[in-house]
Amino acid sequence: MATGMQAAVLYGKEDVRIEDVERPLPRAGEIVVRVNAALTCGTDLKTYRRGYHAKMLNMPALFGHELAGVVAAVGEGVSAFRPGTRVVALNSAPCDRCYWCQHGQQNLCEDLLFNNGAYAEWIRVPARIVEKNTLEIPPHVTDEHAALTEPLACVLRGLEESRAQRGDTMAVIGAGPIGLLMIHAAALAGVQVIAVVKHDQQVSAARRLGAQHVVQMIKVKDAIAAVRALTPDRRGVDIAIEAVALPLTWQWAVDMVRRGGLVNFFGGPAKGTRVDLDTNHLHYNDIELKASFHHTPAVCRRALALIANPKFEADAFITGHAPLRDLVSVFQAMMRRTNEIKTVILP
Ligand SMILES: [Zn+2]
Ligand SMILES: [Zn+2]
Repeated sequence: MATGMQAAVLYGKEDVRIEDVERPLPRAGEIVVRVNAALTCGTDLKTYRRGYHAKMLNMPALFGHELAGVVAAVGEGVSAFRPGTRVVALNSAPCDRCYWCQHGQQNLCEDLLFNNGAYAEWIRVPARIVEKNTLEIPPHVTDEHAALTEPLACVLRGLEESRAQRGDTMAVIGAGPIGLLMIHAAALAGVQVIAVVKHDQQVSAARRLGAQHVVQMIKVKDAIAAVRALTPDRRGVDIAIEAVALPLTWQWAVDMVRRGGLVNFFGGPAKGTRVDLDTNHLHYNDIELKASFHHTPAVCRRALALIANPKFEADAFITGHAPLRDLVSVFQAMMRRTNEIKTVILP
């Protein structure tokens, strides 16, 4: 008895339509979740603007990947969840069999199974994600806060991979949703954060989320010098996180870090983007360069636990609510860079 539902379907570059599609029914091992909150995300905006995503989806496709809701139906053989349970269904799950999975890099699984379709009334969750990456939401955590699990998991993994320790100084370049999550997670871990931001409203957001210093790039002549001036003897920060995804800010990150420091290129640039780096400077200053992509099931659990911690200011990341039918105008507004951090789409 399949009936219809409203869902966002992405057809290509800047072409997303709210359509009546078939409502999913769970097959063996699957669950269907009634979406209560789906969050807008920089990755979705990039996919919308570029008209593709190398790893996540093929057009035309159901769209959106940060969600929380309630289990509406379970397929044959599902015992871990029952209708009525509130869950976060993550947007991927690894195979746990390939070379990368066996080497502790499930985020790079060669058969990473992605699921999209959060901007819809219901979403089908594939069996592998039900089994490995669907988490029950603690009673005191709201759906819209729980939906932050996915981006926060990417951030926590980036932080862990950067080996940030309490007392370290860290520059975070960029104060979009991911940059702000990084600032907050790092500050909560006792890291002294210097936020490098662009817009006025990002200054107050970065401060509220725990940045010790904020450098507004358009108000200083030289952002690199401004960051260095905030460190002892201008030596530079221990760790620099790039969360803008532009070649210029990749270079900044390298130039802000101290001798022997670590740079994490956390923003995901467009295909074919290249960057000039001073190899002599990198070598003779013993600078560690790394990049972090995506998350693992273990870090997703740590992310939801952090959201459940009263110290985590989930509300600061939610700056608006909109019904599903307004999704296109929400994306248009994001392209104009308004004050929004994340908008909750209510299907
Ligand atoms: Zn996301
Ligand atoms: Zn794998």
